[in-house]
Amino acid sequence: MSGSSGRIEMKTPLVELDGDEMTRIIWADIKEILIEPFVSLKTEYYDLGLKHRDETDDSVTTAAAEAAKKYGVAVKCATITPNAQRMDEYKLKRMWRSPNATLRTLLNGTIFRTPIMASPIRPIVRSWKKPITIARHGYGDIYKATEMRVSDPGRVELVYTPKSGQQVSHLVQLVQEFEKPGIAMAIHNLDDSIAAFARSCFNYALSTRQDIWFSAKDTILSGYDDRFRAIFEEIFNAEYKPEFSKRGIEYFYTLIDDAVARVMRSEGGFIWGCKNYDGDVMSDMVATAFGSLAMMTSVLVSPDGKFEYEAAHGTVTRHYYRHLKGENTSTNSMATIFAWSGALRKRGEMDGISSLVDFAERLERASIDTIESGVMTQDLYNIAEIENKRAVSTKEFLCEIASRM
Ligand code: NAP
Ligand code: MG
Repeated sequence: MSGSSGRIEMKTPLVELDGDEMTRIIWADIKEILIEPFVSLKTEYYDLGLKHRDETDDSVTTAAAEAAKKYGVAVKCATITPNAQRMDEYKLKRMWRSPNATLRTLLNGTIFRTPIMASPIRPIVRSWKKPITIARHGYGDIYKATEMRVSDPGRVELVYTPKSGQQVSHLVQLVQEFEKPGIAMAIHNLDDSIAAFARSCFNYALSTRQDIWFSAKDTILSGYDDRFRAIFEEIFNAEYKPEFSKRGIEYFYTLIDDAVARVMRSEGGFIWGCKNYDGDVMSDMVATAFGSLAMMTSVLVSPDGKFEYEAAHGTVTRHYYRHLKGENTSTNSMATIFAWSGALRKRGEMDGISSLVDFAERLERASIDTIESGVMTQDLYNIAEIENKRAVSTKEFLCEIASRM
């Protein structure tokens, strides 16, 4: 579908969440150089820049999340999560919560991280040919732990007190009879949260047509991790099985040890669903082994199929200060470009606009071609294995991509 200008017309607006520092500069340039010449861009704009979050007492973040729920597809620029130093720098009224945390809570979503691959950037694991996507559960376990140090002999117990006052068995369970000093901990999770995680994983597997693995340690935690395994299995069988076989993709559960071994031997090209801690650790390992944080994309998927696309990296503060001093920067815009292409592709799929889906493909192809022809930003230049490579500035890189569209 294209309008009188020859540009691709959209139906439903994308929810556009602007952000901070160097990524905010890149954001405007991507729109101007790579998108608006080709697409008659329709967005509902929310400024999540820290200044505007402060001016609106952060109500803009909640409004943005509501819009993402309403329209179904959002694209987000990296934003500053305030700390003590930012309080001074921006003279903030309060230390506002991380916008990502607010969006994740309101959308009840799971984050999927996928590396962008380009031939000069070789994965450290030789067998990896396709990206590996990590889906990390975002609630509970050790991130909401209660810890205790025991210094004298005594008994540590886990006690459950029903609200109803009803008598049930296993109200008290012995953790350990301590004879010597030591440590103890209690963690929890919620069936609802695990179910939302499972649905997000299955929806994303369908949406990207990839197999999904889920791993845990149910042999050891036959009450705790087995609950995760059972909820995944129940939801898969009840809601997703026929759709998976129709699309020729697979779901399977395996022990975390087995998953780790399989991942290292694999070619990639699948989604790995991880419990909160496993996902935290494994996503850093996978990102590093694929080459660079600046090449990692991230998408938040809600259990009812709403999508929010972004780069996995932050606002690249050091580069921004150089930019403000008028110095040349060479900041990698790949992950932010792929956030845009991901969101536009999804919008195109939902609205049945094949030209928009094609445009997203073309933009991604031109971006990767640019790197594969040896033109790249400094961070990649430092690790690229290719003859005649050339490091270019932030803006030159975007213009090089545009020339290949
Ligand atoms: P960062 O912005 O990701 O940057 C860390 C370093 O990684 C940079 O200084 C740079 O190294 C390198 N880098 C990251 N992205 C790059 C890119 N696109 N191109 C080239 N190099 C890149 O993380 P941070 O410094 O920890 O955080 C800065 C701000 O971002 C903080 O205010 C934080 O709250 C926020 N943040 C936001 C998000 C989000 O919105 N999703 C995520 C993380 C952090 P060199 O300086 O050595 O070149
Ligand atoms: Mg981590």
